[in-house]
Parts: sequence; structure tokens; C-alpha cells
Amino acid sequence: MPGPWPRRPRLVAGNWKMNKSASEGAALAGQLVTLLSAGRPCEIALCPPFTALEAVGVALRGSGIHLGGQDMHPEPKGAFTGSIAGPMLAALGCRFAIVGHSERRHGLGENDALIARKARAALRDGLTPIVCVGETLAERESGKTTDVLVRQVHAVYDGLGEAEARATVIAYEPVWAIGTGKVATPEQAREAHQVVRATLDRVVTSGVGQSVAILYGGSVTDQNAVALFAEEDLDGGLVGGASLEAAGFWRICAAAGAGRG
Ligand code: PEP
Repeated sequence: MPGPWPRRPRLVAGNWKMNKSASEGAALAGQLVTLLSAGRPCEIALCPPFTALEAVGVALRGSGIHLGGQDMHPEPKGAFTGSIAGPMLAALGCRFAIVGHSERRHGLGENDALIARKARAALRDGLTPIVCVGETLAERESGKTTDVLVRQVHAVYDGLGEAEARATVIAYEPVWAIGTGKVATPEQAREAHQVVRATLDRVVTSGVGQSVAILYGGSVTDQNAVALFAEEDLDGGLVGGASLEAAGFWRICAAAGAGRG
């Protein structure tokens, strides 16, 4: 299991998706490290493509900015062509692994059972899983948002102990908001986060919902970050497109840090 995580830290994780070569990634990480000289606004993690992890890790060394993988295989090693195992991420200095991102659930057909295995494997391998949950537009429009969130949270957390649950991070990412420029309102995000917290209380144990950091993801930019992170229940963000440029990403981190007031 990963080491203890402070209670609901403000955290912004940049998901670079399939962008940045190793050298481009190291350059962006270097720019962010330079910006740190003015102080660290919140916990920050960068999730570059696997091919850039090592170079970005070197650029971040000693900075306190965390490194994360964008996915991982549930098995620790073996004949799984094209996959990356948790111990490989840990050996590169990763603290986090994103699991269940909607681009893998909906683009690559990953199901709840597989995502649950990945989340447990991350804990086994000493990584903090960032467990992504969220509804599609059709599910929201047909009033199924709560059902979907409850099902996705159940799948991962049913059977986890309290300490394990507390060692995870959840990202609420409505699928209709990812990469679309359509951001959830702070109220929509708060409602979803409350569903997730209540479900954690039921599935794991009472009180755990208030201890797990829940990030919002979906078209977060430096333009909408202040309004989003003023919402006390949002513990930070999982940021895709807007994490690819240093100054804007930094403003998002600053908004997340300031939001906790
Ligand atoms: C994401 O990658 O998880 C994401 C939310 O992307 P974007 O910020 O580009 O919508």
C-alpha cells in the first residue's frame, strides 16, 4: 500500500494523454519546477505517456511534484504485450496511477471489473490509484447519473478496507465534459461528489467518504478553475488539455490551492 496521504489534500494532476515526447515532457516539467520557486500552491502530479516517465521523473527529481502513470495492468508481470505493470511505474518513482479513465472505459471497452482489479493492483504495488468515475451525456439526460456513479464506486470499493480506501483518490469526470470545452457547473460537480462520498460511506465504512480526495475533471482551464475550486467539496482537478502548457496549468494549481482558503 502507498504511504499515508494527508486528509483530502488539494491536488491537481495533469493527464498529458498521448502528448509530449520524452524531451518535450522534460522541458515542460522543467518549466513547472522553475515556477515552484514562488512556492507550491497545492499537491501537483504529472502523468505523462509511459515513454516520457523516466525523463520527466529526472526533471522533477527533488521538486516535490509527483509523477503518475496514465494506466497500468493488474498483473505485476508476465505475458501481456504492450502493457505496463505497477511495479514498473513504482520503479520509475511514480506515486500515482490513473485507472478507469473514460477514454479507456469508453474508447477501449474497459469494464468495472477490470478497473477494480487495476485499482487493487495499484494499492498492492505501492501506488495511489486515481480512480475515474463519471456518466455519459445520455446517462445524465436519462436521469441515471447517480446510478452510474454508485455502480462504478461499488465496483472498485466493495471489499476494500478503510485504510485502503483512504489511500486512493477519486476523479469525478463526466464523460460529456472531457475534452469538449463543456465544463460541469460547480453545483453539478458538488452533487456528484456528494453521491460518491455517500456511496463510500455505505460501501466501506461511515466517515470514509469525507476522507477521500475527490478531484473534478472535464475541460478545466485557467478561466474556469477559480469558480470550480471555490467549491469546498472539490479537492482539486484532473486536467487534460490545459496541463500541456506550463503557465496556464500553474494558474489552475494556484486556483486549487487558493480555493481551500
Ligand atoms: C482528462 O484527461 O481526464 C480530462 C479531464 O481532459 P480535459 O481536461 O482535456 O477535458
